[in-house]
Amino acid sequence: SPTPSVLERSAVIDLEAIRHNVRQFVAIASPAKVMAVVKADAYGHGAVQVARAALDAGARWLGVAHISEALGLRAAGIDAPLLAWLHTSESNFAAAVAAGVDIGISGWELDAVVAAAREQERPARIHLKVDTGLGRNGCTIDDWDKLLGKAMEHQDEGLLRVVGIFSHLAVADEPHRPETDEQLAVFREALAMAEDSGVDPEVRHIANTPATLSRPDAHFDLVRVGLGLYGLSPFDGQPSSELGLRPAMTVRTLLSNCKRVPKGQGVSYGLKYRTEGESSLGLIPLGYADGVPRVATGGPVRIKGTSYPVVGQIAMDQMVVDFGDLDPEQAAALPGSEVVMFGDGADGGPTADDWAAAAGTINYEIVTRISPRVPRSYI
Ligand code: PLP
Repeated sequence: SPTPSVLERSAVIDLEAIRHNVRQFVAIASPAKVMAVVKADAYGHGAVQVARAALDAGARWLGVAHISEALGLRAAGIDAPLLAWLHTSESNFAAAVAAGVDIGISGWELDAVVAAAREQERPARIHLKVDTGLGRNGCTIDDWDKLLGKAMEHQDEGLLRVVGIFSHLAVADEPHRPETDEQLAVFREALAMAEDSGVDPEVRHIANTPATLSRPDAHFDLVRVGLGLYGLSPFDGQPSSELGLRPAMTVRTLLSNCKRVPKGQGVSYGLKYRTEGESSLGLIPLGYADGVPRVATGGPVRIKGTSYPVVGQIAMDQMVVDFGDLDPEQAAALPGSEVVMFGDGADGGPTADDWAAAAGTINYEIVTRISPRVPRSYI
């Protein structure tokens, strides 16, 4: 199908902002290294482009959830150390071993990965994951010794190398909560048990963006940074500018239409909004098929230097703003004007944080859900 015009609608990704953010994290984490987390198409920013920019700016590792995501990066010619940590029995471990992709292991995967290593006649690179309290993936501390023993047996057979030991934090975005200390204590215990079993990994890692920013004692050898790379803040009420980060994604389009309507005009499905007086309504060609949350009525957009809340129900392809009682000539000139849904907020414009607040969600979700229908462009 014909390529959509990025002039019409686009998510503009500022790769210099990505590089700036990576440099910030490299400095904060040093001497620990930075893993750029580029799962979910780099939180919507484009995995290959972001991975290249991040490596360029000093990240040493890449991280994704699925082996298929890792293979996509390898297919693009990216040969940096690369970890994939979420698998099913249908995951392609053989392809991961062949492509030199590091595989996160929580338990059952070990046998499948060893079989893949035998088939490929190449040792698998694995990171053993311990669940220190998040209750998702990872081996429980009770089963940890057994997993370590089994991994060492296969390492001695030359079928694998334990490259890393890792875990994931549950509440690092709420620095006052005690559970992060508890998780770090379990992680240290797991590392001590590994040492006792003769496991000597290259990298030990547990920190995500918020822990990298607020817990130097969680840095260990490597920090896994996702959200912060994209210039967003993990801390409620603290904008990313206060953290020295620059939001990298701007979602913008052009105003489709602007028309004068009488007082009491209902707007969009359900007619949940009515104009309070004679008014000019502007039509924006972005909707929930583009990733705008349907529940986010009231989210702000910026048009010609002024922010307006979206009124009425957000539809699949479109949403509406009420300009109020505009001069008719001014209103007639508005179609074709640039509309910014969110960007870096530098000029007081709307941010992903504003849309997260309007939707009752987190900024992670706002950028990640911008759909493939919105073409990406890179500056
Ligand atoms: N590590 C793991 C295992 C993850 O699943 C994620 C993302 O959720 C990250 C690191 C990166 O987290 P953040 O985006 O908060 O930096």
